[in-house]
Amino acid sequence: MSYDQLTGQNELRRMLSAALENGKLSHAILLSGPSGSGKTSWGKLLSQAILCPDHKGIKPCMICRSCRIFLSGNHPEFYYLEPEKRKLKTKQFRLIREHLYLGGNTKVCLIDQAETMTAETSSSLLKILEEPPKGLTFILLADQPGALYDTILSRCQRYALQPMSSSEIYELLVKNNKADEDKADLLARLSSGLPGYAFDMADDADFDERFREAKTLAYNIATGRDSAVQLLSWAASLAERDDLIYLLELVALIYRDGLMQSLCRRGDNIYRFEKPLVWTETVSSAGLEEAILLINTTIYEVVATNVNRRLLLEKMLIMLQRRLAL
Ligand SMILES: [Zn+2]
Repeated sequence: MSYDQLTGQNELRRMLSAALENGKLSHAILLSGPSGSGKTSWGKLLSQAILCPDHKGIKPCMICRSCRIFLSGNHPEFYYLEPEKRKLKTKQFRLIREHLYLGGNTKVCLIDQAETMTAETSSSLLKILEEPPKGLTFILLADQPGALYDTILSRCQRYALQPMSSSEIYELLVKNNKADEDKADLLARLSSGLPGYAFDMADDADFDERFREAKTLAYNIATGRDSAVQLLSWAASLAERDDLIYLLELVALIYRDGLMQSLCRRGDNIYRFEKPLVWTETVSSAGLEEAILLINTTIYEVVATNVNRRLLLEKMLIMLQRRLAL
């Protein structure tokens, strides 16, 4: 994604630009923010700007040789590391290590999901950070910076990505031709301020169908229209689905939308949509908060444990209905 296609994050844009212009950018940068917040796009943009001799702040010129090679994905001085099988291994680091010391040209090493570095990889990185070769910048990206070693953290200049507003995400989707206006509006609304999440939904060919199902489920539970037998049958069919987590996330996002509406009715004017996605108007904010928490806990248990999915879903649906439908 190019500079013009990245919207929002004005504070980050301003701070990085100032640091670059004033020669104050450290040789080790940490960009943190939740998964889907746009760290990789911003990390790549910063890399391109550092390598571009004609950059203006964080804006690369886009036409010089360096920019053209960077955009083709073959820049010889750009090194990108991401986890292999969920870990960043020393082997991956060893392959590029000696190149980082060659030549003295401007070089950038972008490390995605830096918190997945093994102890050994972290100590190899630390050795370089202690005596960095001239011209080399490391950019570390992390969802959970707290999981990095303190010795590495203390050597990094730190920047955080902020959640984006739904209008900014809408603009981003439309600018990048990811969705038409109506769909961009819906995805922006569902994305919880995370552009990566909105893009994933935009790329999902089955999104419309899944969203319809999630809406039906969210509506039926909130209105209490399903009998206990129907809830058990929902649980049985959901338990078999490969896209269970995605579907549950959508239901939680639909309730989140209801919660935002309810907060707005109380006068916290932070949400620009007029009606909730599904009817949840008689449910209290506390009820919706509990529902979201319950769904997220269920998602966690499905992912992290070997529990019987059907039993877990039965329990979740019954508790949700009891909490939401009056
Ligand atoms: Zn350039």
